[in-house]
Amino acid sequence: MPDKCGARGLTGRDQVKRKSDKPFRKLRGFLHFGGYMVHVPKRPCTAPGCREFSIPGSSKCEMHEVQRRQQVEARRAADPEKARYRRWYKLRIWYARRHDCLKAALFRCATPGCLERATDVDHIKPHRGNWDLFVDRNNLQALCKSCHSRKTVREDGGFGQ
Ligand SMILES: [Zn+2]
Ligand SMILES: [Zn+2]
Repeated sequence: MPDKCGARGLTGRDQVKRKSDKPFRKLRGFLHFGGYMVHVPKRPCTAPGCREFSIPGSSKCEMHEVQRRQQVEARRAADPEKARYRRWYKLRIWYARRHDCLKAALFRCATPGCLERATDVDHIKPHRGNWDLFVDRNNLQALCKSCHSRKTVREDGGFGQ
């Protein structure tokens, strides 16, 4: 039945759309929690050289947030394999592993000589969709944001191991 197929196709696309809106919507709900508007202090946009204030729920101004989202979308489209395990990062087990790892490291970055506070949990050996590597406690280390993004760039660019 072509009609039904068409309808199903549409709902699928709608669901994807709704999903990507979710973080914003959640936050807006939080801001209006209990019917009261909670005051959120304005922070400057983190994009280099930008003088705008960031919008609620983001560290960027409206323009840079849109730009960031477009970059994310482009990266996702370029790597469909990643979509398969991206949702693992939303599982409760990952939150537990993450928390354990950061706590065990006392929130110190694992890079020798780095004094930044660890906020990220990194897979020492990239898991690349391997569940066992993903949840292995011994494969996790706490890193600060900048050390982690540097490592991620190295791994994604290198493609070797
Ligand atoms: Zn900006
Ligand atoms: Zn670091």
